Amino acid sequence: MHRRFAIAFFAAALCMAPLRSEASPAFDAMLKQAEAVRSADPAQFESLIGDLNASIASASKAQREQLQYLKAYHLAYAGRMDLALQAAKQLFDSGTDPSARFRAGALLVNGYAVTREFSEGLRYLNETLALIDEIKDPELRHHAWSAAGIIHNQVGQYEIGMRYAQLMLDDEPSPRTRCFAGTMRMESLYNLRLLAGRESELDALVAQCLDVGEPVAANFVRGHLARLMSDRGERNEAVVFLNRHLPEIEATRYPRLVGEIHSVLAEINLAAGDSRQADSHARKAIGQGTSMANSAPLVTAYRVLYESALQQGDTTAALAHHINYAAADKAYLDTVKARELAYQEVLNETREKGQAIELLSRQNQVLQLQQQVDAQQQRNTLLLVLLLAGLLGTIALWAWRTKKAQLLFRRLAETDALTGISNRMHFSRRAEEALEYCRKDGEDAGLVMFDLDEFKAINDRFGHAVGDWVLRQVADTCSAICRKHDRFGRLGGEEFAFLLVGCDLGSAIALAQECRKRIAAIDTAPSGHVFRITASFGVAGTRNCGYDYLTLLSRADDALYRSKREGRDRVHVHGLEAVPGALPTA
Ligand code: GH3
Ligand code: MG
Ligand code: MG
Repeated sequence: MHRRFAIAFFAAALCMAPLRSEASPAFDAMLKQAEAVRSADPAQFESLIGDLNASIASASKAQREQLQYLKAYHLAYAGRMDLALQAAKQLFDSGTDPSARFRAGALLVNGYAVTREFSEGLRYLNETLALIDEIKDPELRHHAWSAAGIIHNQVGQYEIGMRYAQLMLDDEPSPRTRCFAGTMRMESLYNLRLLAGRESELDALVAQCLDVGEPVAANFVRGHLARLMSDRGERNEAVVFLNRHLPEIEATRYPRLVGEIHSVLAEINLAAGDSRQADSHARKAIGQGTSMANSAPLVTAYRVLYESALQQGDTTAALAHHINYAAADKAYLDTVKARELAYQEVLNETREKGQAIELLSRQNQVLQLQQQVDAQQQRNTLLLVLLLAGLLGTIALWAWRTKKAQLLFRRLAETDALTGISNRMHFSRRAEEALEYCRKDGEDAGLVMFDLDEFKAINDRFGHAVGDWVLRQVADTCSAICRKHDRFGRLGGEEFAFLLVGCDLGSAIALAQECRKRIAAIDTAPSGHVFRITASFGVAGTRNCGYDYLTLLSRADDALYRSKREGRDRVHVHGLEAVPGALPTA
């Protein structure tokens, strides 16, 4: 199981692609070099990190972020995982370069796998994979899939781990990535108990990894090969095989690999009956220190010590080793349980988050629909308002035109076409209204009626047109002396009448006289003929005749015919024998 921890670092070493840099080609060259050697040559890598730190001033922002990532990687490789995680977290949270952030995310996933904080690791995995669309570089993608595969293997989801390994292998990986993906795939297969019979694949994988200068990966695979040999009963061959590579393995100074191989050797030696060698390897495995904590190889190492002591009959030592063995076993099982729990926890979280997002997106859809409906309603309302306004405008225009037409017709109906004054019908109606008004108010009113004298003769002598001209002159002249509330109209032919409101008989007579004089004074020269126009007047007052219009009219008519009979061009009043000044003075 502990092999999976080690692969985390290989995966973190995946990204070879240099980040784009605007500044300092020298810095860029150093970065490239550091990327190339970071897992294969730790000493050179460390010295390059020192050089890069020294020339940080010339670095662009992206270059600085790339260096920040490499420093985090270096810390992780050197076993300073707490500091590595801190640096990677800072880069992931506040970095701006997508590639640097993405790699920091992958390092966090791997780092939390190492520190067995699986929940954190899985959370960062989700966040990192969410960035994958921004990552165009296939190596970086592989980096993330690698991290995903490792952490799934770690939480016991070996099928998923294998799927991520396969994703990388199917995506035309670089030879180095092929080495790491292959190693990860073997790791999954080992845990799925599907490794037996794949020796040739493992041999090829070892060669591939050695080819690209990755002895750590190659030797983890050799550990698998040795186990398979031992499982087949070829224990001595397995021991010889591993011993042959032991110097190379120890030269990697990678505690997990060294511890694991010693643990495998301890187990096989014990099975082969060499308890001295078994003890020695077990102690070397345990001697790798905290890197081995809570791991299966550590449990195996303690078990080997215990069983070896038992075989040697040293019960005291056996008891002491058993106590350690039991403690290591419990710690390991607790870790396994914790990982599985963490996996379930994050899985649930992710599902809940997914559901929450789904709910939010549904709510959002509803909201958007609502907004669309509102907008449509607003448009409809506006349209309705415009329609109504248009309709109202049309109605108003129609009403105005109708009213205008009505007024025109009414005016036409009320007006005498020749003279422009009220015609008989209109005069009669208005005279009736005025009389009714006076009757209610107890006011006097007078009706003055006149008829042009010898008008037929004017027509006959000068023509009808001159007759018409006379009628218009008379109408204009009499209209001019009409007061505001008086009514004046043409009763027909050459007959006219006034209805004088609030006017006693004296005033009515005065108006009739004034009118008579003005008619007689009309200058007819403009008509083309010089002749005299006169009219005969008849006056009736309400005080003598009452307020009935027709009665008043008839009385005034009587008086008018009396004027005619008595010589024309004069005023007669109903009920009065003589009217002062009623006769023409000239
Ligand atoms: P008297 O003094 O007795 O009233 O004599 P008169 O000729 O005025 O009376 P009469 O009733 O015999 O003639 C009225 C004439 O008025 C007859 C008619 O042709 C003329 N007349 C009526 N209406 C009009 C009109 O609109 N234009 C013109 N030019 N003549 C009209
Ligand atoms: Mg007449
Ligand atoms: Mg007449």
